[in-house]
Amino acid sequence: MTIENDKVVLMDYTLTNENGDIIDTSDGREPLAYIQGHQNIIPGLEQEMAGKKVGDKFKAVVQPEDGYGKFNPALLQEVDRNVFKGVDEIEVGMQFKAELENGPIIMTVTKIDGDKITIDGNHALADQVLTFDVEVKEIRNATSEELEHKHVHGAGGHHH
Ligand code: ZN
Repeated sequence: MTIENDKVVLMDYTLTNENGDIIDTSDGREPLAYIQGHQNIIPGLEQEMAGKKVGDKFKAVVQPEDGYGKFNPALLQEVDRNVFKGVDEIEVGMQFKAELENGPIIMTVTKIDGDKITIDGNHALADQVLTFDVEVKEIRNATSEELEHKHVHGAGGHHH
């Protein structure tokens, strides 16, 4: 069986950035489970997964436009502390949902300078070339329920 749309794939992976720093890994955890062709994973990685078989080990290098996007300076803003009225304590790393024209996005507080709060809606991995070291562990057909929910049930997936 090879990886094609509507297959459930279990994979071990290690994600590194351009400096070779490990950003995320399934090492020591269950493999990641996803459904091919349903935007469960970033497009650049999904493209590289297509056609692979169980036991295949490979490196996938993903450019920002096929990963977490280019950095958008419009999403980096300095706002006044009173925007956070009702929030007891504001800390760097705090995340909240903001409603924009194109829908909700997650903003992160990245800097606090007195009453000036810097917030950033860019993904932490925006603008980064990402390298995935992948090993395909299992491939199976998705159930109709999984296809309906657009995510994997059972090992490595969602439970509901
Ligand atoms: Zn579900």
